[in-house]
Amino acid sequence: MKIAEKHVVRFHYTLKNTADQTLESSDKDQPIAYLFGHNNIIPGLEKAMLGKTAGEQFSVTIPPEEAYGPRTENATQRVSIKHLQGAKKWKPGMVAIIDTDQGRRQATVVKIGKFMADVDFNHPLAGKTLKFDVEIVEVREATQEELEHGHAHGDGGHQH
Ligand code: ZN
Repeated sequence: MKIAEKHVVRFHYTLKNTADQTLESSDKDQPIAYLFGHNNIIPGLEKAMLGKTAGEQFSVTIPPEEAYGPRTENATQRVSIKHLQGAKKWKPGMVAIIDTDQGRRQATVVKIGKFMADVDFNHPLAGKTLKFDVEIVEVREATQEELEHGHAHGDGGHQH
């Protein structure tokens, strides 16, 4: 079965930067599951998935425009430290979760003071060319419910 619209894909991945350092990877016992064609993964990876079958392995290099977009200048804001979620002590370079008017966002701590922090609202991977090593584990037809929800259910997918 080939990856196409209305299919759920389970896959393993390793994400590397252009210096070949691993940034993140899937849990080796738990491939992630996603519903193709619903913007659940970055566009460049979605494109590379099309037509692949279970058991296939491939590598793809994705420019920022097809990944997390270019970096925006002047995306730094000063916020109260108590609004940073995800750790107790903060250091520059750490990624915090912040609830904003536009919803929940990730931000990178640039500078930390006693009460206030300067954070950069660019996605941590914005402006980066990314390399994915991918192994397709399973391809199956999506259920009606998954299509209605716009995401995959079950192992490696959305748990309700
Ligand atoms: Zn659902």
